[in-house]
Amino acid sequence: MIRRGGLQVRGLERDQTPVADLYCHRCHTHQRVTGRTRVQDFMRANPLLEHRARCSALQKKGTTP
Ligand SMILES: [Zn+2]
Repeated sequence: MIRRGGLQVRGLERDQTPVADLYCHRCHTHQRVTGRTRVQDFMRANPLLEHRARCSALQKKGTTP
């Protein structure tokens, strides 16, 4: 259970299907990726940073110069 938002990966043991959950507590976006290859690619792409760049909640609040 992700309370404050973040990235959680489960099922990395052998013979399990990895599942990555990204949850943003600001805009309540939940993204799930399943499958070893897809999870690996997902993690490599730094999804938290990527989401932060386009998070609707952050953009609304963001200080525009
Ligand atoms: Zn967000």
